[in-house]
Amino acid sequence: MPRRSPRSKRKAAGAKLPQKPRVRSAPGSRKAASASAKPRAPHAKKGARSTAAPVAARKKAVRKLAARPKTKPAAAAPPAKPAKAGRFSAPDPVRVRALIEGLRELYPDAKCALDFSTPLQLLIATILSAQCTDERVNKVTPVLFARWPDAAALAQAELADIESVIHSTGFFRNKAKSIKEACSDLVEKYAGQVPRDLEQLVALRGVGRKTANVVLGNAYGINSGVVVDTHVTRLSNRLGLTTESDAVKIEFALQPLVPQEWWTLFSHWLILHGRAVCNARKPMCSQCPLSAHCPRIGVTVSA
Ligand code: SF4
Repeated sequence: MPRRSPRSKRKAAGAKLPQKPRVRSAPGSRKAASASAKPRAPHAKKGARSTAAPVAARKKAVRKLAARPKTKPAAAAPPAKPAKAGRFSAPDPVRVRALIEGLRELYPDAKCALDFSTPLQLLIATILSAQCTDERVNKVTPVLFARWPDAAALAQAELADIESVIHSTGFFRNKAKSIKEACSDLVEKYAGQVPRDLEQLVALRGVGRKTANVVLGNAYGINSGVVVDTHVTRLSNRLGLTTESDAVKIEFALQPLVPQEWWTLFSHWLILHGRAVCNARKPMCSQCPLSAHCPRIGVTVSA
């Protein structure tokens, strides 16, 4: 009996032969292709590959897929490029407004870094803060105020005793003299109270415009001026707000640019930004949120 081939065996058993592979339609002719395609078997999943597709064609497709360059994740937006160091030109009010808004958002909790609970304590702490860190002053003042709690007590204290307590703040001889003399004036003229007036404050011995502005702005909430220290001087120049280097001239240059309601805070903002980002030796311009509005006057080295 002649041997039958597997094909003829299946034919004999009534099995269907595999259908011809479906011809893929050209792009754009999907409708036509689907119209000519045979209806999908009810159990077949939509999109499933035809099991009848030639193995070689499938292997080729897999190779093609593997060779396709992988899609890169979307790159993060590059940080805004800081403006190039430029020349000073009269500050544009729109730019200044943007700087104020930026600083306000960056430092919403800005406040005086010196610890105090009365205007007198802030006056003394500010005198001590010259050429000294706020942290050091905050360590010394509790001892000072515990021993001499008011202006009358400080006015009568021995100069040498005050000097020994404030020694670590530096320039202790001058500072002790300023504290004692200012307190003597307060007792004589204002019954030991700190006046709320700039002219009266700067008339006290040992009290300058900067100290007076600190006291009025932070102890009484009076925006009498802009406090200008080393940070405010540096940033005012770099930000292109003034070309002055003298503290009083800088203050008078800033006053017309900054709304008076922000004078006290503006100083705190610049001090905080000067410490955190725009430091003296190497400002971090590439990470500075103000860079889009800053001409970086005088900046030669930055990070
Ligand atoms: S770090 Fe200072 S100089 Fe640099 S962009 Fe900021 S504010 Fe301007």
